[in-house]
Amino acid sequence: MGLSKTIWTNPTEYLRNQQPENPVLFFAPQVVQATARRFLDGFPGLVTYAVKSNPSEEVVENLMAAGVKGFDCASPFEIDLIRRLDPDTAIHYHNPVRSRPEIAHAVARNVTSWSVDSRSELAKLIELVPFEGCEISVRFKLPVSGAAYNFGAKFGATAELAADLLKTVAEAGFIPSITFHPGTQCTDPEAWASYIREAALIAAKAGVKIARLNVGGGFPNNRVGGEKVDLEAIFQTIDRVATESFGADRPQLVCEPGRGLCGDAYAVAAKVKSVRDDAHIFLNDGIYGSMFEFSQIGIINRIDVLDPRGHRRMGAIQGRVVFGPTCDSVDRLPGEVPLPADVSEGDYVIIQGMGAYSTVTNSRFNGFGELACVTVLSLKL
Ligand SMILES: *Cc1c(COP(=O)(O)O)cnc(C)c1O
Repeated sequence: MGLSKTIWTNPTEYLRNQQPENPVLFFAPQVVQATARRFLDGFPGLVTYAVKSNPSEEVVENLMAAGVKGFDCASPFEIDLIRRLDPDTAIHYHNPVRSRPEIAHAVARNVTSWSVDSRSELAKLIELVPFEGCEISVRFKLPVSGAAYNFGAKFGATAELAADLLKTVAEAGFIPSITFHPGTQCTDPEAWASYIREAALIAAKAGVKIARLNVGGGFPNNRVGGEKVDLEAIFQTIDRVATESFGADRPQLVCEPGRGLCGDAYAVAAKVKSVRDDAHIFLNDGIYGSMFEFSQIGIINRIDVLDPRGHRRMGAIQGRVVFGPTCDSVDRLPGEVPLPADVSEGDYVIIQGMGAYSTVTNSRFNGFGELACVTVLSLKL
């Protein structure tokens, strides 16, 4: 990604002045810092950031500046990134399947929190990780509810296996903890509540007092125009149900939001390459670019269209078929995208809430994907 040295007032000012031919991601540091403060003030425990959702250094550095003191890493690359920016911060290695060299890499970089969801991977950790002061969190899953995307399809032990693993973790001398992930873009606080209740049953079944309960990520960002996500309602439910379920044995709480922290700090501007025969819209960004996730969990409908002079298109909103720039027919935004009727070639389509799973999943397929990143004071047009 190209980095602009200049800080612009907002996307409109940049687009009007620069007329970019390639798609642009606009980043507002103030938004990521304000969101971090919302988590730090509201969440009843330690806030860590799931680096995979947006590993840009500008995001990580702003989160550190705002006071975020822990990072959930999925790979040696992410561990090295965090260690370079802060040699002492807490790193949780919560990808539950790792090769032996990956485990050794993390041990050498003083990673002391791990997650696990299987006997084979736990055996590797017991063999390769010194247990003193080291935490292993057993990850379990429930049938999903409330989330846009089911993470349990890949990771998470059943309750029964989780109790077994937890016992083994404690017997091996590690600090025993439990973790789960309710699924990404989860808007229903009850999803966390049912996981927390089940975690207490698992600990009781194992006869193990857990040190910490990591309630995962999944915190939503604003994807639906006119609706604001209610993070505080989720925080309050987590706090209340943790006390109800664990009583005097209530563990310390940890969360590891990715999307919830970075999602609303970015907007993308994609240029209209063509309105083909007055029907289909072709953008210079799409499913193989920053919009990969739309194919998984649906579009964000917080959309504005600016003409090349930076004036907002005000036509009646119509559903349109929208394609990305590649020659692959998969490269179509799902469903019909609400756009003003007067959208024209050369316009910019600006979509808010694009901070998570966008910079990292952008590919160079067909020679596209030259995505610029520009810092702005505000994302308001
Ligand atoms: C991806 C992931 C997260 C972050 O998920 P979001 O939905 O972006 O909050 C947190 N923890 C783990 C273990 C993950 O794999």
